Amino acid sequence: MKVAKARQASRWPDAIIAWVSDCTFCKIVAGVLPSYRVLEDEHTLAFLNIRPAAPGHTLVVPRVHVRDVWEISKVSHGEVADMVHRVAALLKATLAPEGVNVKHNTGQAAGQDVFHYHVHVVPRWREDGLRL
Ligand code: IMP
Repeated sequence: MKVAKARQASRWPDAIIAWVSDCTFCKIVAGVLPSYRVLEDEHTLAFLNIRPAAPGHTLVVPRVHVRDVWEISKVSHGEVADMVHRVAALLKATLAPEGVNVKHNTGQAAGQDVFHYHVHVVPRWREDGLRL
């Protein structure tokens, strides 16, 4: 919320706003923190998870800071869903997984650690031993 207000109230470039924000994913979106970008468009960014549950574990985020599924707009949710669909297709084509998990956590009680809306796209193989 602080970041959204700062964006409205100032003409500072997004990278400067992200630098002073405490949101890791805003910093990644702005390029202030490094990431391995998988795909991106005007509204969303897909990048590799720094602690992957499996090879190719990708996170999809809206560029605009929004906390969770309770805060994201219907439009932004649709944009993220489109990107998840593209990422799943790309992972299938490049890594040939036997399945994929598409997962989102809202709230600490559900396991959310980073409070910038994101969807996990995790390639799966039989007997990979993962418990998601
Ligand atoms: P959550 O538990 O659903 O909030 O997932 C947050 C995810 O963000 C975790 O799987 C982390 O490994 C991942 N993560 C945290 N910081 C970074 C980063 O700087 N780059 C990429 N992934 C990150």
